[in-house]
Amino acid sequence: MREMFYSEFVEVYEKLYGTSKRLEKEAILAEFLNKLEKKGDSEWIYLLRGKVFPDYDEREFGISGQLVIKTIASAFGIKEEQILSMYREIGDLGEIAEEFSGKKRQAKLFGGRLTVSKVFGNLRKIVDIEGKGAVGKKVELIAELLGIAESGEAKYIVRTLLSDLRVGVADGILRDALASAFFEDRVEVKELIGRAYDICNDFAEVFEAAKKGRKELEKIEIVPGKPMNVMLAVKVDDIGEAFEACGKPAAIEHKYDGFRVMISKKKEEIKLFTRRLENVTKQFPDVVEAVKKNVKGESFILDSEVVGFNPGTKKYLPFEAISQRIKRKYDIDKLKKELPVEVNVFDVIYYNGKNLMSSPFRERRKILERIVKNAELKIRSARQIITDSEDKAMEFYQEALKIGEEGIMVKNLDAPYQQGRRVGFMVKLKPVANDFDLVIVGAEYGSGKRAGWLTSYIVACRDNDKLLEIGKVSSGLKEKSPADRKSAGPEIPHKISGKEGTSYDEMTKLLKILIKEEEGKIVKVKPEIVVSVTYQNIQKSPSYSSGYALRFPRITRYRPDRSVKDIASLSEIEREVGKRGRKR
Ligand code: AMP
Repeated sequence: MREMFYSEFVEVYEKLYGTSKRLEKEAILAEFLNKLEKKGDSEWIYLLRGKVFPDYDEREFGISGQLVIKTIASAFGIKEEQILSMYREIGDLGEIAEEFSGKKRQAKLFGGRLTVSKVFGNLRKIVDIEGKGAVGKKVELIAELLGIAESGEAKYIVRTLLSDLRVGVADGILRDALASAFFEDRVEVKELIGRAYDICNDFAEVFEAAKKGRKELEKIEIVPGKPMNVMLAVKVDDIGEAFEACGKPAAIEHKYDGFRVMISKKKEEIKLFTRRLENVTKQFPDVVEAVKKNVKGESFILDSEVVGFNPGTKKYLPFEAISQRIKRKYDIDKLKKELPVEVNVFDVIYYNGKNLMSSPFRERRKILERIVKNAELKIRSARQIITDSEDKAMEFYQEALKIGEEGIMVKNLDAPYQQGRRVGFMVKLKPVANDFDLVIVGAEYGSGKRAGWLTSYIVACRDNDKLLEIGKVSSGLKEKSPADRKSAGPEIPHKISGKEGTSYDEMTKLLKILIKEEEGKIVKVKPEIVVSVTYQNIQKSPSYSSGYALRFPRITRYRPDRSVKDIASLSEIEREVGKRGRKR
């Protein structure tokens, strides 16, 4: 049996605590990992992050601060009230344990040293104890450790139990430390280690492989039945940015407002994992059933969004409405009727023994469409279009919003499936504050099909009684000419704020009578026509007198019921800019 003293861990905890510099932390850890390789068990690596199980394992110590107070009291023969009042002052039970165990050692000169295997063993037992008398047994196991612990050791045992280690070992730092501990060509290996960790979520497994070399790291592969980290999306502010990130054409999908579920099937067993790697199979027998009936294949891993809908109206519900199903472990049959869900499958990562992660998304999607049979309100492939047109994308976006979705996801058709947040593989676009009412102060004649019409409009907000330009909007109106409409005529504009929407021709008629100045294709008009304008983003801009420009503005309605007095003020716009700045 390999052996190490727990004090060696404490030494490294203290060093890590002493610096906030990432590279220093990495070096401290790398040195320690070399030591751990020689003297320790791979699983002890979990202790560096205050754990005793792999990250995907949801089991917890289940120790409250109150229980720790009780244990310290009984281990050191002190009154609970005394500990509580110290706690109010210091705010760290670890330090309190440290202080008492230091005093005790001086008094008793305790023999024996705490080994890592003792600490690790007791901590695991604490997690596993359940049922009657569990609390008493947990207290005994902690007290036993505190009884042997030296002061610094007591501090870190308590902090570990309270999941508050405070040494700052994020998984990224530990990955990098593994690379620098065992490899020369760190940069490349960091990627490999990152990949291995994303797949197995188990630092002991990655440590074990890293010790042996690259080949072993490469062998770590996704397998159905185990949770894995998912690919995450980067936020963009507008469609243009989405295409810039993902290339053209790109796949565009509805962004469903549900929760992420990785569905895995191995032999006949189907398992469901959340994005946080929790196993939720028991909570969703309806999803399991839908997958069993409608997805072909011996083994697979699918990525999906599970969305709730109202069983009466069949309308999608926001995530909050069904979130209780994730946690609930009883009354599942009742819940599944009251809060039914639909599975929207958007990716396939593994199929019949083959890892598809490095296949381009367009191929994965083809497989997906082949294997998932759409069954209404049960399971389906995510709604998708492939386009290089910003207008089409915008239309799809508006449609998604109209039926209550959160927005859209834009995906690079050539990208592999890579876990974590990767720029340029998949981006999300959601609406931010909706629209402003603005007044049209100028316009420009169109060309080609739109020649003769005023087709782009300079819009303005107000600053007291001054009007300040804030952008140019040319989309949102209808192409149809009045000849195609039944009720053509000068009074039309007042009727068309309804279902059909205003056409360019109608808007031209409205504006022409308001023209003040004309220069080439550009006109200035009396500020009378108010429109509601949605946009994706507001940017600072020297091009407009307000100092701001709306990005991707779009007219949603002509507002004959509003006057220039009703339009958005500069301070409202600035407030919105401030809000967005904070959100990011
Ligand atoms: P967010 O939660 O805002 O970071 O947005 C990303 C999340 O949107 C993903 O983690 C999924 O849970 C969810 N989502 C909804 N629809 C899709 C889709 N079609 N493709 C990918 N993710 C989606």
